[in-house]
Order: sequence, then structure tokens, then C-alpha cells
Amino acid sequence: MNEHQTRAARMQQPLATDVIAATAEQHGVCVRPFAMEVGDLDTGELRYIPIPCGSTVESQCGPCARKARALRMAQCREGWHLTEEPDFVPDEPSADHTALLELRADLVAAYQEASTAGAGEADELLDEIRSVDAELRQLGMRGRLPSPEGPGRRTVKRSTKRRQDAPELPRRRVENRTLGREFAGRYRPSMFVTLTCDSYGRVRDDGTPVDPRAYDYRRAARDAVHFAALVDRWWQNLRRVVGWDVQYFATVEPQKRVAPHLHAAIRGSVPHEVLRQVTAATYHQVWWPAHEELVYAGDRVPVWEEGRFVDPDSRRPLPTWDEALDEAGEPAHVVTFGQQVHSKGILGGSEEAGRHIGYLTKYLTKSTGEVIEAATDRQRTHHDRLHDELRITPCSPRCAVWLLYGIQPLGVNARTHPGRCKSRAHRRTTLGLPGRRVLVSRKWSGKTLADHRADRKAFVMAALAEVGISKPEPDRSRLVWQKVQPGDPHQPPRDHLLMHAIAERIKWRAEYDKALLAAGRPPPDPLATRPAAA
Ligand SMILES: [Zn+2]
Ligand SMILES: [Zn+2]
Repeated sequence: MNEHQTRAARMQQPLATDVIAATAEQHGVCVRPFAMEVGDLDTGELRYIPIPCGSTVESQCGPCARKARALRMAQCREGWHLTEEPDFVPDEPSADHTALLELRADLVAAYQEASTAGAGEADELLDEIRSVDAELRQLGMRGRLPSPEGPGRRTVKRSTKRRQDAPELPRRRVENRTLGREFAGRYRPSMFVTLTCDSYGRVRDDGTPVDPRAYDYRRAARDAVHFAALVDRWWQNLRRVVGWDVQYFATVEPQKRVAPHLHAAIRGSVPHEVLRQVTAATYHQVWWPAHEELVYAGDRVPVWEEGRFVDPDSRRPLPTWDEALDEAGEPAHVVTFGQQVHSKGILGGSEEAGRHIGYLTKYLTKSTGEVIEAATDRQRTHHDRLHDELRITPCSPRCAVWLLYGIQPLGVNARTHPGRCKSRAHRRTTLGLPGRRVLVSRKWSGKTLADHRADRKAFVMAALAEVGISKPEPDRSRLVWQKVQPGDPHQPPRDHLLMHAIAERIKWRAEYDKALLAAGRPPPDPLATRPAAA
């Protein structure tokens, strides 16, 4: 039945795969699901079920990224103006706890293996472990987990002068409460605060330096690498000054000049003057060996010999990390904030609160690389220059960049390449910006992201129940779920999974619309609002 078509005409037709993906996108269905194999113990039936990819980046999967952002917005909204202390009575360890702990054990084993092998994913695994730890703490787990590095690392006694000096701020005992004060018996304003990095030289409107030669790229690079630690100090100092356990939902985003800055929703009201004082007094000392001058560059780099790195000419072993650290008489770097502190009181439920939640979460569906894309040659040059500096800025005590400064980092081995560290701090695409861009304090909403997801589901269920649709949870006790192994010949192609998910969604949608009509309510425009399927 097909007329003969020229090759060019065929090439102009959209690929079936693209059409299917676009349809999935329109219906709010994950566009790149993976398959789970589900076996029924009673019937012996084996099925493949599409599971959403869960990406937070819109260019990878729009529906999943928009859903993830909506969840973050809900989390931000719920914690910002809480009027009751969140409930933190410890529960029995749940299935979530044990599942996460098992995942952590696997990750730690993988990390230790990668780290001994000098494999590049070690840092990413460490990031992953940290986010599992954060999730566990969010679940209300207390106490310390064993370090991913494992035991055996010698702890060096540091002289007392290496402690972080306490800044000159009034100090109070931090009370065990997370709510701010109430005003006039009913108003409980909260804050929106923006903190920036210091100045490295004057910049134009496009974020590029007025005088590139005078711009302090070295400090910009180091400040970016240590920004997260500085922010931690800020929360500690703020809590001590105000005397209560201040809670926050914050996001780290790049400014035009590509320095990180922090937007934070803070529960409770803190006078601007106090925020300004805390910001001015907060600093973070980096007690690392000095690394001002590159010792090695180009082809002349340290070589691995008899289980350690030695100088390529003299063959003398380079100092180890601990030896170099013992030599350090002062911090290698001190990070401070810029003078600009923006703060604003925001009332709960106001239009302004909604606007600021949108603002806080605006870029969460973009990858860091997408947020800092250069539009002009001048911006590209600026980014290149910053990247040059980040390439020779050590990012951690395990960073292979230390070898260029004549120091053996922690965990070196035969596979370490001097100067080559795969951690994201050195990448051209991220320019020192952190991987974890959402920072939520432990007692923010009293809920985990999983709890917020469950709330959403319950909300949809309630909406359905209201129009007479009840969807009882299927009995899953006799089902065995298994991730499909790569290369499984029975695995259905992605297009099939997508078609299945779209069909489900359309069926569900039709059912919902019919029930709405029956209840005398007009169904909403299917493409304007997409209630998430439970
Ligand atoms: Zn997806
Ligand atoms: Zn590094």
C-alpha cells in the first residue's frame, strides 16, 4: 500500500521513535524508562514493567524532571512556614532504612575498590554515598556511619592553633526548637536570603571581568571548591547567634560571573543586621598544604617507583599528604562571603512566597552545564580562564592535582596520573559548581522526599475518590521484582515500554474524565494540566 518514496522523502519523516517519545512527553510519561521484570509466584507469569528514569534534568527526560521539581517545590513550601515543630520521635528502623543501608554498603564496597584501583568514578561514588547518608539522616537516622575510607587511616593530632577560630559573634546556647518567633499572636514571617562569593575584580553586565588580567581567577577557583564548607560554617554561626536550630531549604546556583551563590528559604525571622554580621564574620580556613607554585608541569611530572611517587630527576620520594600537612604553618586558603547580603521577610501562603519558591527551584531542571552556557566569545574566554585555574586547584586531599605541587595525595597508587583528577570540580562543563545543588536541613519539613511523593500520590487518590474512582493497591506480596540485566534477550525495546505506559496513561485519563463528567464537572484540558498518575 505504500507508494514508492525517494530516500530523501523518507529521511524527512520523523522517526517512529521520536514520535513515540514526543507523545510520551505530551502525556507526562517518562520518555526513557527502564524495564523491571516482574514474576508472579502464583501464575508463573513474567511481565516487563516500565519504571520512570527519575532524571532531574529536563533535557534528559522532561516529564520526570518536571515531576522532581514539583516535589522539591512542595518540600520547600511545606517547611518554610511550619507553625508546629516537626515530629522527630525515633521510629523502628523501617524497610526504607534497611534498603538504604544495604545500598550504602554496596556503594562503599564499590568506592573502596575504585579508590584502590585509582578509578575515576571513586569521587562520584563518594558523592553518591554522601547523598544516601543525607537521605538516611532525612529519614531520621541519628548517629555516625562508618567512614567510606574504612579504618586504618592514621589520625594526626593537630596543634590547637589549627582549629577554626570562632568568629567574633555573640554566642547563645542553641535551643532545641526550629520555629521562629510569632508576632502579634499570628504572624510568623520567614526569610529569603541570598549569599554571594567575594569580589574577584569588577565585572560587566555579562559577568565577564572589566580587566581580565586583574581578575583574581585563583581565588575564584578556590572559593568555588570550598563554597559548600563555607556555607556550613554560616549555618553553624547563625544558629549560635540566634539561639535556635534554624532550618533551611537552599539552592546553589552560578551567578553570571560563574561564582556560586546561595538562595535560601529560612524558617523564622532573623533581623537583616544579624544576617549581615554573621555573613561578615563567617570564614572557612582550609588547612591543606600550601599550593601556591606549581612544581611540575607539562611532561616533567613525578613518577611512580617502588610504591610511591618520586621526583623525575632526583628520584627522591615526594612528601606524603600527612608529612606535607605537618609542615603547614597557616591555612592554605581562607574563604569568605562577599559583602552583599540580600534578605527579605516573607509571609506564609502569600503570592510573594509562591514567587520565591519558583525562584529557588527555577533552574533545578537544568544541568549545571546548561545553566552556565556561554553565549559570547568574551564569556567563553572567561570560562576558559576559570577552567584553567580549576584544573590546577586541588579539590580534596585525594586529588591527583597535588602531585603537580610535589605532594603525594591520600590514596595514591600506580594508576594515579599526576594532575588528572576526574572529580567534577575540574570539569569545563561545571566550572567548580557543586553536584548537590539543593541543600535541605534535617528538620525542614519533617518529611523525606519519599514522604512528599507519597503525599502527592495520596492527593491524586483523594481526587479520584471524590469522583467515585477507587484504585485499590494491588496485592504485591506474591510478585518478585527484578531489574532486567543488560543484554537480556527478552527485554522489550524501549518503544514498546513507552507505548505501554502511554496506553495506560490514556486509559487512566479517560476514566478520570468520564468520572468528572458523571459528577457534573468539566474535565480539564488534558494537555494543560496533567495530574500525575499515582
Ligand atoms: Zn524519565
Ligand atoms: Zn581533584
